[in-house]
Amino acid sequence: MSAMGESLSILWHFVLAKWLRRFRTRKQLMAWQRRKLDAFLRKAVRTFPYYGGHNLRLQDLPPMDKQGYRENFEMLNPWGISLEEAEELALRAERERDFSPELRDGITVGLSSGTSGKRGVFLVSRDDRVRWAGIMLARTLSNASLRHLINPWRPALKIAFFLRANSNLYRTIASRRVDFRYFDLLRDLGNLMSELQGYAPDILIAPASVLAELTRMDALSIQPRQVISVAEVLEHPDAVAIEAKFGGRPANLYQATEGFLASTCNEGKLHLNEEFMGVEREWLDHSRTRFHPVITDFSRSSQAFIRYRLDDVLVADEEGCSCGRVSSTILRIEGRSDEVLWFGGAVFPDVLRQVFYAMPVDLGPYRLEQHGNALHVMIRNSSPEIESEVAAGLQRFFNQRDCQPAEIRFVPWTDQPAGEKQRRIRQVTRESFSI
Ligand SMILES: [Zn+2]
Repeated sequence: MSAMGESLSILWHFVLAKWLRRFRTRKQLMAWQRRKLDAFLRKAVRTFPYYGGHNLRLQDLPPMDKQGYRENFEMLNPWGISLEEAEELALRAERERDFSPELRDGITVGLSSGTSGKRGVFLVSRDDRVRWAGIMLARTLSNASLRHLINPWRPALKIAFFLRANSNLYRTIASRRVDFRYFDLLRDLGNLMSELQGYAPDILIAPASVLAELTRMDALSIQPRQVISVAEVLEHPDAVAIEAKFGGRPANLYQATEGFLASTCNEGKLHLNEEFMGVEREWLDHSRTRFHPVITDFSRSSQAFIRYRLDDVLVADEEGCSCGRVSSTILRIEGRSDEVLWFGGAVFPDVLRQVFYAMPVDLGPYRLEQHGNALHVMIRNSSPEIESEVAAGLQRFFNQRDCQPAEIRFVPWTDQPAGEKQRRIRQVTRESFSI
């Protein structure tokens, strides 16, 4: 595809996502989605060997998880590319910090920023890439940014993107009207900050923990028009600090290896991307508030994600939204299943975070890890007073519940490697309980 052809294709998908795929009622959206899913499944039988020869009915397929997906990787893409082949290219790109190589026929390989050992690898064809760029711009650009973008007398729109790995996927967005700069998170954050200060982006995109770190840098005085949090859970106190520092409420972009799942609308609500994928809910509690999403992406041709279960824990929102989009909204992404701690019963990460927000002392960065039956607590600016407050707060919290760690242990703070997703709460090992 020529550069011009690519730009026009991005524009088409932009228009499609922004204005054409709009539905007046939820019923209309669901009926339309049903038709798209059926058509996609009929095609999937021919495209993906894994489903070959079947008469696919969504309800007959058992959900597939990450492990199952990895085991059948080469049957789940049309080119028979193996997991080893994709991973080798992705890892070499990571090592050499050169993210431009393609596998073949313009297929790009990307690596998600998961915790080490569990990183997801994904394939994107050229067609998928331009579609992704169009949808992404449609979902993220505010009206003011859009006016800037289409005004030829204004300089190009500057987007700063902090990530652990760049990708051809992201570079697709760059054009004459979009100046896209990648900030490599493996570089020193102090240097990145001075570069960011000089660049003065219109849009700042970074993982939540990096945005939070940037708010603590007094020398940084940029005023981006939009701030967008990606890759990690954006916690409320961080969102407040980001708004105070940069002057605007940060939006959330929920993009995983498995696709582009949700984004914040201009009312500040997080909408599932149901215009491009079906999302079923696997409930995790009796009150039906938390669920794992089981997705079927009917807009992607390079990999089959059909009834694919994500590890993420989402919190349902029954209220809907007044912005005009009829897709489901969620209250928040609470974390992944390894952020749920188990001490004889589930302790959801959000509930634990609440305990820490409510502490009467200013804690600064902290981390919680479950090691077997013990809860390890790490506090960057620790002191005996802070430790006794935290110990008392946690004790009160666990006393009110049936589940208890055998021990709460304070251990010295260590930084998490810059190349890994930053997790505040993590289950490292747990006693074996049946769920
Ligand atoms: Zn909305």
